[in-house]
Amino acid sequence: MEVVFLGTGTSQGIPVIGCGCDVCLSDDEKDKRLRTSVLVKTEGINILIDASPDFRRQMLDNNEDNVDVILLTHEHNDHIIGMDDIRPINFKYEKNIPVYGMARVLDQVKQKFHYAFSETSYPGAPKLNCVEIEAGKSFWLHKNVEVIPLLVFHAGLPILGFRIQNFVYITDASHLPEETIEAVAGAGVLILNALQRTKHFSHFNLEEALEMIRLLHPNRALLTHMSHHMGKHHVLLADLPANVEPAFDKMRLKI
Ligand SMILES: [Zn+2]
Ligand SMILES: [Zn+2]
Ligand SMILES: [Zn+2]
Repeated sequence: MEVVFLGTGTSQGIPVIGCGCDVCLSDDEKDKRLRTSVLVKTEGINILIDASPDFRRQMLDNNEDNVDVILLTHEHNDHIIGMDDIRPINFKYEKNIPVYGMARVLDQVKQKFHYAFSETSYPGAPKLNCVEIEAGKSFWLHKNVEVIPLLVFHAGLPILGFRIQNFVYITDASHLPEETIEAVAGAGVLILNALQRTKHFSHFNLEEALEMIRLLHPNRALLTHMSHHMGKHHVLLADLPANVEPAFDKMRLKI
């Protein structure tokens, strides 16, 4: 399995428009963070987890041209709004793209991309097939990749994380219920969100994310969905325990 980090930034991205902080002005490529998404490549399938507003740029920058399946964590714009740009993949590979999400999330997708789902859709609309999934009910992709949707809370909003083989991806969490802690414990690689150093109502901050990583004890953990308030990549890296590191855009992880 290979995981390509398409984006590791929070909803505004880094640099933030108009911000003069040292992170937003940094020349280090690792301090430039597009909106959070990964492409998981396993068993010949390209699985896109969330379609960020930067999806087009992310595919071009990473020399990737195919998506077989989209898994959605939740309906916030920074996680779904790039789906209109799936069109070149519809055209090139002459296929519809299945989109897996919770019922509430798929309803939002159908509202935001209403033109793709209307009975009189025009020929240039994205071709998406919605597939409803539920936390705790695993499903198979192409008969050989099992995906386990995990219940995660984003403030009070129930959303999904995903376990695929030995890899776990959780973003936008501020609380993990006991059942998810059990399903995740001992994973090989855990990707977990950490927004900033100070407390936030709907995302783990750094201290909370590190506490959760200690509890879940993966072999390796990577942080994502970071804001400019987290500070520069190299400073953060030096502050972290040995098995934890900040992910960065265009990072490729072999598992
Ligand atoms: Zn988000
Ligand atoms: Zn800034
Ligand atoms: Zn969110």
